[in-house]
Amino acid sequence: MPGTLVDKQQLNIAIIGSGLGGLSAAIALRRQNHYVTIYERYDFGGEVGASLSCASNGSRFLEEWDVPVKSAKPVILKSLIMHEWESGAVKGQYDLGDYREQFGTDYNNFHRIDLHTVLKETAVGAEGQGPPCSLKTWHKAVRMNAEAGTIEFENGNAASADVIIAADGIRSLSRAQLGITPSITPSTSCCYRCIIPASRLRELGLEQFITSDAIEFWGGYGISKIVMSACSNNEVVSCYCFYPAQYNDLKEDGWNISTTGENLVKTYPGLDPRLHKLFLHADDIKMWRLYIHEPYPYWTKGRVALLGDAAHPMLPDQSQGACMAMEDAGALGILFSTKYETMSVAQRLEMYERVRKERACKVQSASAKARTDLSERIGWSSKTDRPGKLTIEEVCGYDMHAHIEQLVREGLSCR
Ligand SMILES: Cc1cc2nc3c(=O)[nH]c(=O)nc-3n(C[C@H](O)[C@H](O)[C@H](O)COP(=O)(O)OP(=O)(O)OC[C@H]3O[C@@H](n4cnc5c(N)ncnc54)[C@H](O)[C@@H]3O)c2cc1C
Repeated sequence: MPGTLVDKQQLNIAIIGSGLGGLSAAIALRRQNHYVTIYERYDFGGEVGASLSCASNGSRFLEEWDVPVKSAKPVILKSLIMHEWESGAVKGQYDLGDYREQFGTDYNNFHRIDLHTVLKETAVGAEGQGPPCSLKTWHKAVRMNAEAGTIEFENGNAASADVIIAADGIRSLSRAQLGITPSITPSTSCCYRCIIPASRLRELGLEQFITSDAIEFWGGYGISKIVMSACSNNEVVSCYCFYPAQYNDLKEDGWNISTTGENLVKTYPGLDPRLHKLFLHADDIKMWRLYIHEPYPYWTKGRVALLGDAAHPMLPDQSQGACMAMEDAGALGILFSTKYETMSVAQRLEMYERVRKERACKVQSASAKARTDLSERIGWSSKTDRPGKLTIEEVCGYDMHAHIEQLVREGLSCR
């Protein structure tokens, strides 16, 4: 039973979903010598290509887990740049120059497929600490018994585990299995993302966007905002383009809705002409419909814990969704280490929820605020200008090891 005081130390752990969160959890837990099996409904053909900035609160765990970060071809961000909407002139710059000194790691900007590939190799590779994880594709989890720790898959297979981590993303089916009914409201914003190879930008005379080592913004006060950054060793430039959802047929949804560069240009009349030029030559322009998710009442039940977007889906405007998933994974790695071996599975999962829920929900709420107010985004914010506002210090300077130690100490002293 999960409630017994000391469980066996080498656990069988099942992870549902091999996105950035599930793979991070797999790595963190294999390193603590547990047997990890990851169940993924697809075989990765549908991975979405776009940039993903990984602040130090995520990058710190990548380093701690010996993930070969350089193999994921990061661009190391040096600043945030704000442009005039129409002329493109630089109207503000936040310098991240001493970021590594201040927060202990670089501010990495990845192509999400590069990061996914490196995490997958690290999870299943023979090298590295702990037993390599096993990855089973075409295993869509359709039912779970949280108390018994069992999973049934669409293909007819079944599995049981000491712990189940449900990392099945923003449209998680696992939540319902735990009795959680999400409260979801469509956002008034939608997002197109597109990528363009550096070689094409050079041909277009737009090389300034390849090597700025910055996240560059246009707009952001109101719904419309363009967020641009280079990734993949500066070989690719990626843009997220936010616009009013009413421009779309509201019935359209899914990951694979494409549009044309011409439509993107039409969406933003009067925008910096360099961006119009870029849009007309961009590849792979896809729509992301955005939703606002309220926090869930709980994340764990029996042997199951939610992780990543399954636990705390958030709007992308703090660039923190994947970092929060890495933090979740970090917490599991710490709590399921020998340091906390006197705690039962149930106690560790309870502590996981305690250490993670409040912090992730704060970032979730701050992401919604930053949707239409760039000054709410960490990086543009300072400690003092608005009470309760999320700051770069509290997000990037977070010491989870110390936080868990303190919560466990407090928990023990209350007994
Ligand atoms: C426009 C945009 C920009 C973003 N930019 C950033 C950024 O700059 N920085 C950042 O930190 N975050 C960013 N994010 C957020 C980040 O992408 C997500 O938070 C992160 O990818 C979540 O990872 P996950 O593993 O929880 O979920 P996912 O990546 O969605 O993975 C879920 C996995 O589970 C699988 N799955 C689903 N259901 C089942 C099932 N029933 N059985 C088995 N497998 C299943 C799926 O196939 C998938 O592989 C952005 C998000 C968006 C939309």
